[in-house]
Amino acid sequence: MTNGKIGVTTENIFPVIKKFLYSDHEIFLRELVSNAVDATQKLKALASRGEMQGELGDLTIRIAVDTDKRLLTITDRGIGMTADEVDRYINQIAFSGAEEFMAKYKDQAIIGHFGLGFYSSFMVADKVEIITRSYKEGSKTVHWECNGSPEFSMEESDEAHDRGTTIVLHLSEEAKEYAEAAKIEELLRKYCRFLPVPIAFGKVKEWKDGKYVDTDKDNIVNDTDPLWMRKPADITEEQYKEFYHELYPTGEEPLFSIHLNIDYPFHLTGILYFPKIRNNFEIQKNKIQLYSNQVYVTDQVEGIVPEYLTLLHGVIDSPDIPLNVSRSYLQSDSNVKKISNYITRKVADRLQELFNTMRPEFEKKWDDLKIFIQYGILTDEKFAEKAQSFTLWKNTDGKYFTPAEYEELVKANQTDKHQTLVFLYVDDPVAKLAALEAAKGKGYDVLEMNGPLDNHYVNWYESKHKEQRFVRVDSDIVDKLIQKEDSLKMSLSEAQQEILRPVFEAQMPHDEKIHYNIAFEPMAAGEAPVVITQNEFMRRMKEMAAMS
Ligand code: ADP
Ligand code: MG
Repeated sequence: MTNGKIGVTTENIFPVIKKFLYSDHEIFLRELVSNAVDATQKLKALASRGEMQGELGDLTIRIAVDTDKRLLTITDRGIGMTADEVDRYINQIAFSGAEEFMAKYKDQAIIGHFGLGFYSSFMVADKVEIITRSYKEGSKTVHWECNGSPEFSMEESDEAHDRGTTIVLHLSEEAKEYAEAAKIEELLRKYCRFLPVPIAFGKVKEWKDGKYVDTDKDNIVNDTDPLWMRKPADITEEQYKEFYHELYPTGEEPLFSIHLNIDYPFHLTGILYFPKIRNNFEIQKNKIQLYSNQVYVTDQVEGIVPEYLTLLHGVIDSPDIPLNVSRSYLQSDSNVKKISNYITRKVADRLQELFNTMRPEFEKKWDDLKIFIQYGILTDEKFAEKAQSFTLWKNTDGKYFTPAEYEELVKANQTDKHQTLVFLYVDDPVAKLAALEAAKGKGYDVLEMNGPLDNHYVNWYESKHKEQRFVRVDSDIVDKLIQKEDSLKMSLSEAQQEILRPVFEAQMPHDEKIHYNIAFEPMAAGEAPVVITQNEFMRRMKEMAAMS
């Protein structure tokens, strides 16, 4: 039996870390299970290089609770550790790593969840045991134990133990909930759902003779091959949808999915979805889950993805996003900025592609998509630039136009006296039906702008396009619109007018008492280019003469 003192200088940092990490106690499970996954992956790597003797066998990681004894056990069949390795990796590295971590981040707001490693088990346990046997030929079983003081004990024995490691947590009174099956099931679902090695928690249950009984089938809690890790070319649209429902069982059909996949200058994979929003005002943020090598980290992705993308759903997996840092650090980190820019570009490219290749479908989904795109335009200049070519405006006849197409449509007909192009819109088509119909009656086109961000969007658009303005259909400006094209063509020169006047005069009835005025004037479209009026006095005299 070896007894030793852990290589930490602080007298006893356990109480400190327990208090400090109060809100994040539950992540201990993720840390221990991901260590088990790492150990298993390392073994597989050794085997594939022929550096390991014997069979890999069943590599399932097993988790068990004993509620009465307040025990939680995590067992893997990975590489295991020799006594030397326990000394090096647990006594020295894991503990000194924790101490360093504390020193460095004590004063910072830590991003929700981070990796404190093996050490985090002391947040919930009074005593931790490691029973491990290395994959190496002739290894002995090592039994390590530590009760939360800086003292530990370690002993090597011939005790039989499978290759791999068992961690036994003797849970503290305050942490006894982690000895409840339901709690562990919930945490495994949250943190370990997409880990790449099968994780068994108990057995699959079966309804028999009026109650649930265990079958002999392992209850595997994770999906070892999540969709985002596969090649986009191998995935069908249906599978993207299924995966969406796996992530959000109560969600509606997503509008579109975007598969992210990049190797340089950082690693990032993932699938983002544009969700269908039931009600414009019921936007749920923070539905994206952030993973690091398939280990769940957080769903608080602000600062990592651009603000407007926090409205999207899906998963992002990147080992290159620094996790053990504060939010403000994250926001200023240049790598994180690169990642954020990449995601923006990718999302914009995908929207452009959808627009180009399936415009009818895109138009059909526009009403739902609009809020995301407007939010992106309003908050992200780069996105705004790209979105120019796939933004749509919908008119009150239900037709969709890009801004450029719309400009083309109304430019002849809708300018004000300053030659500014006027886009008429209605923000409440029911209440303003009369004004809407009046405008349409005059041959104007009217846009429908009744979304929650339309006002902001209109302001933004006007600030970018000085020669264009949006005008509400019920404003008095509508009556003063001018036909731009005619106002350019209209002015006949004096000489031209003199030539034309007799032509018209020749057509007038030859009645000396009636005088006609012939005027060539700038006109609005749809009106006559020449106006001929009778002299009012003479007209009335003529009427009276006719009556008598
Ligand atoms: P990290 O996983 O970041 O290296 P940890 O504190 O979680 O830090 O673990 C420290 C080290 O202890 C690991 O790097 C690994 O060498 C060793 N270790 C922990 N758990 C296991 C395990 N289940 N099997 C084998 N080695 C382990
Ligand atoms: Mg670890």
